[in-house]
Amino acid sequence: MEIDFNKYEPVIGLEVHAQMLTKSKAFCSDAVEYGAPANTLVSPISLGHPGTLPKHNKEAVKYAIKIGIACSCDIAEFNYYARKNYFYADLPKGYQISQHTTPICENGFVDIKLKDGTEKKIGLTRIHMEEDTGKSMHDQDVYDTLIDYNRAGTALVEVVSEPDMRTGEEAYQFLTEIRKLVRYLDICDGNMEEGSMRCDANVSVRLRGAPQFGVKVEVKNMNSIRNVQRAIDFEIKRQIEAIEKNEKIYQETRTFDAIKGTTFVMRTKEGASDYRYFPEPDLPPLHITPQFIDSVKAQMPALPKELFEKFTKVYGLNDYDANVLTENKDVAEYFETTLKHTGNIKSAANWVMVQVKGYLNEQAIEIKDFVLQPSKIAEIISLIDENKISNSAATQNLFPAMIIEHHKSAFEIAEALNLMQENNSDELQKHVDTALAKYPEKVAEYKAGKVSLIGLFMGEVMKLSKGKADPKLANQLVKDTLDRS
Ligand code: ADP
Ligand code: MG
Repeated sequence: MEIDFNKYEPVIGLEVHAQMLTKSKAFCSDAVEYGAPANTLVSPISLGHPGTLPKHNKEAVKYAIKIGIACSCDIAEFNYYARKNYFYADLPKGYQISQHTTPICENGFVDIKLKDGTEKKIGLTRIHMEEDTGKSMHDQDVYDTLIDYNRAGTALVEVVSEPDMRTGEEAYQFLTEIRKLVRYLDICDGNMEEGSMRCDANVSVRLRGAPQFGVKVEVKNMNSIRNVQRAIDFEIKRQIEAIEKNEKIYQETRTFDAIKGTTFVMRTKEGASDYRYFPEPDLPPLHITPQFIDSVKAQMPALPKELFEKFTKVYGLNDYDANVLTENKDVAEYFETTLKHTGNIKSAANWVMVQVKGYLNEQAIEIKDFVLQPSKIAEIISLIDENKISNSAATQNLFPAMIIEHHKSAFEIAEALNLMQENNSDELQKHVDTALAKYPEKVAEYKAGKVSLIGLFMGEVMKLSKGKADPKLANQLVKDTLDRS
């Protein structure tokens, strides 16, 4: 029997963990660093030895406030940490310090835009601070699971969305926005492959119009935004098919298999787990003053949304270009610096989006490691605008050569490579005369009305000038000469 998937409405809420880029951990001075030798970034505090005391990390609090402000949240001036008690080998203290009843941020939202242009607001329930656990490694040793405690105690924020999403694509866009934000704010590198940003997807389905949500399933272990979407799409289909077969949906935690594209059960939840939360007795509550919040606000960079507005309204770029140029803060900055050296906005946008970004992709490098200064891009643009060099010579010859000799000016390199167009009309006139003399019958045909022959003459002129003739000027000379002859 055919299943009518449209009868059902999927409901999705995401929990996103982001590792803060603070220099030290959440409650002690151990360094935070990805890829350091195992168990070298630890201390009696992060290992939870008896008698040790945690301390607040002011920088981590500042980062949490930043993301809260960026998502239009209310910032709680009074909040405290709790102990979330559970036993697991990667949790050396036997409890995780986490904000339970008093999250630092509440009630925000994130705007997303879908491929078809639809815009939607996704509500945030809360953003709270907590510490990360160590990392179990099941594939390093044949017999045993190994544990690296370097990550234990690293500052995290957890962004919890409302169950506002309805498709895998919406979840994809939501995560893309969160990643863009944390990167703009410089508080997390947003790298899902390395696990510095992680996402648990809560998925349920219900009959359209039903007053209540269905039973939710939590899916974990997706190492890319694309895989979160795949996991959700699979889960929606699995749940609808199960319901259609009169099977029960269990509240459980499932894991995603990226190779098969499926999810399978990790553990079933029988009711709510009992974490025996209680206020962390070793840390004083946080009193965040309005002055502190204002000082954080003053340190915020322009956010992607604001830049998008500026790029479309002030620079007159279309939505697509503005989107590409604001995806990454450093690219947006590079573009804006280019504009300090040229007034040709459209051309600067094209050069950054096509040539510069193309080169970065090809080389798999970030724009901060790109050797050409924005002023050099502006130099290329003015050579083109002044008809000194053709667009194709600029992209194919000049640009690659400038990357190699990035201290030289565009003009110097264009001269050295003999790329400058001939603007000398005496010289050019000679080429035009030679070209026309070569085809006397064609000249007669042209005079009789076959104007398309201009292309043939132009081709000959360009050949004679070895491609250096300024096409506009050459075209004018060819026409004038024909009219006079
Ligand atoms: P839990 O107590 O199981 O962690 P929460 O109420 O804290 O559940 O919600 C966790 C996440 O699950 C939130 O992002 C929330 O939006 C989402 N969520 C809650 N109920 C549902 C549901 N029925 N279907 C899909 N997502 C849900
Ligand atoms: Mg939860």
